[in-house]
Amino acid sequence: MEIVTRRLGEALPGERIESALTPGINALKTFDPPFSAIDGAAFTGARRRGKLLLLDVDTPSRGALVLLVHLMSAGRIQLFDKRASLRDKTSRVLFRVPVPTHPDRELRVREFGTKQRAWVKLLVPEAVDADEALAHLAPEAWPEPPDDLAERLAAPRPLHSLLRDQRVIAGIGRTWVDDILHAAQLSPFKRGDDLSDAELEALRDAMVSELGRVIDYYEEHVQLPLPEKFPKPTRVHAHQGEPCPRCETVLEAVFYEDYVMTYCPHCQTEGRVLKDRRLSRLLK
Ligand SMILES: [Zn+2]
Repeated sequence: MEIVTRRLGEALPGERIESALTPGINALKTFDPPFSAIDGAAFTGARRRGKLLLLDVDTPSRGALVLLVHLMSAGRIQLFDKRASLRDKTSRVLFRVPVPTHPDRELRVREFGTKQRAWVKLLVPEAVDADEALAHLAPEAWPEPPDDLAERLAAPRPLHSLLRDQRVIAGIGRTWVDDILHAAQLSPFKRGDDLSDAELEALRDAMVSELGRVIDYYEEHVQLPLPEKFPKPTRVHAHQGEPCPRCETVLEAVFYEDYVMTYCPHCQTEGRVLKDRRLSRLLK
């Protein structure tokens, strides 16, 4: 989301929204101010908080408003120089932003798969911080984790769940948590309230370096119109069966219903191979 925000922040400010459509009937979650208020609005900026994108607009009738966008897991936002086909089932919200060189330019919120979970809200600026999607969002892990990281993590919960909890620390998804824990040489099942000062520092450094590495990669490789599928330059996550990039031990994984957690037994779990829940379920 950081790179999406950067790219849209370079392209959109100053551009005007001619009109907006919501083919995804459940995608728009607010009705006051009315969505029609953004017709004729100009984009003034793009910001990110956690996994949320905030697009600032200056509207003719209501002044400054904020479009809050949550893509959930299968959503994308892309800027095309061509309008979406009416038959495009991925379209959720379409903003027509014509420019002289590209009269059909369109900012599209799309979603792949059958579920409709991505959403957009149109809010007055004063309502943004109190919105339920933002109100409980913790400070960001990048570029600098919060000073009270130790207190935030001091819970009897495993790190791989704590670090993905946006109320504990924002901006780490299930993909990058594996690489962060590997860089810090910490077990994904180590409890947050069981970290030494040195381990906490290693974790803090790993958040900065791993998220920074990924953002640098995207900065170099991701351009407009923004891809449907983002590259995932992981070193550990989903690389089970391959050698650890640090010690060459074969990486192991625990499979959950909808994601995989990859780790190095040598670097992270003192040689122990953690229970593969998929396998243990099959063996029951
Ligand atoms: Zn290793």
